[in-house]
Amino acid sequence: MREKITPYLKKLTHIPAISRQYQLSDNETEDNSYNDPLQEDEHEVVKGLVHKYANRALIKVSYQCAAHCRFCTRIRQIGKPEGTLTIKDIDNIITYLTVNKQIDDVILSGGDPLYCPSITLQILDRLQHIDSIKVLRIGSRLPLQLPSAIKAPALAPLLTHIKEISASKPFYILLHINHPSELTPEAIEAIRHLRSLGVTLLSQTVFLKGVNDDENTLTQLYKELYYAGVIPYYLYHCDNVHGIQHFAVAIARERAIATELTAKLSGIACPTYVIDIENGYGKIPVALNFTNTDANMLSDFNGNSHIIK
Ligand code: SF4
Repeated sequence: MREKITPYLKKLTHIPAISRQYQLSDNETEDNSYNDPLQEDEHEVVKGLVHKYANRALIKVSYQCAAHCRFCTRIRQIGKPEGTLTIKDIDNIITYLTVNKQIDDVILSGGDPLYCPSITLQILDRLQHIDSIKVLRIGSRLPLQLPSAIKAPALAPLLTHIKEISASKPFYILLHINHPSELTPEAIEAIRHLRSLGVTLLSQTVFLKGVNDDENTLTQLYKELYYAGVIPYYLYHCDNVHGIQHFAVAIARERAIATELTAKLSGIACPTYVIDIENGYGKIPVALNFTNTDANMLSDFNGNSHIIK
């Protein structure tokens, strides 16, 4: 995956947590056989539509993003032109979703759906009329990679449409953010604009070695997200993709940090620490350091044990 960074992010690369996320490093091994640990390709039922979980489906709008994250799970695809959906591809996706009425929750991802607003608009325009789909979600990193784009004219028709849809169906925008330094005044303003659409904003974060693998950094991140009106959702272990494992943090360390977060943050400001099981099924919440072998015994935030009766 070639290096790609927005002029806005370029100005922030004096911050190690930013440069490490976006700039090529010697640690990265160029691997022409990047794997697919989440088995998305295997579950791609028609081009661009991943149907892995019974009631949920993922649409990859394109493989394009404003900037390329060096740790991306989809490093095998990002930047390639063949991922961009055509009208025919969208027709096939809509047919599949119309027939498979058990799918009630659809997430648009990619690539970044907000970076390809005209395709995303066409897809949403069709999805909103499928009665069996009750919830719509978009995953994006654009407000953190190019905040000015959120208020730019090119995005206005899509955002207006999202606002209209959110009046009748729950609409979630999931922001991928890993470090508090990404929450610049420009990014906060972009988030404020998205909040004005009436959508619910959630965050997703990946544990990344040398970026956010300490409790103070993540405590600050989640407090600032909470203040900005974004609800912390998932905190992931880095997927086991070949060539990016220099970003992986030891599970024991992640558990200790995630445990500490629950002690420091309000419940609503605290994400769920999960591992997306490689070649498996589901984002599994990892048990934090409150339990021991006796199922009725819990440790409190001070490390004191209590028998639960
Ligand atoms: S914005 Fe998301 S999809 Fe695009 S490179 Fe970054 S992590 Fe991957």
